Amino acid sequence: MPTTRNTKLLAIPKTYECLGFTIKVQYKEIDGLCGHFDPQEGVMTLNPASKEELLRQTFWHEAMHSFLITLGYEELNSNEQFVDQIGQCLYQLEKTRKG
Ligand SMILES: [Zn+2]
Repeated sequence: MPTTRNTKLLAIPKTYECLGFTIKVQYKEIDGLCGHFDPQEGVMTLNPASKEELLRQTFWHEAMHSFLITLGYEELNSNEQFVDQIGQCLYQLEKTRKG
């Protein structure tokens, strides 16, 4: 885990709720991947070897997968470009927010 944190940013949660499902966030080395979302287990895995910026971008990307799967948007969920672009927008919102 990176030791320096931008305190303006929200901490990556250990868990969050999505339409009544609890999503757990865990850190584990994954070969060749920054992150992964397991819809069966409701577990998001983030690679702790990632730098903070990438970790946060990955969190929002995987959060998008969790939202889309929970909402039943299977086709959109498999569109990695869409998932990544909306994830980037959410990350930018978090990063540039004032107040
Ligand atoms: Zn993805």
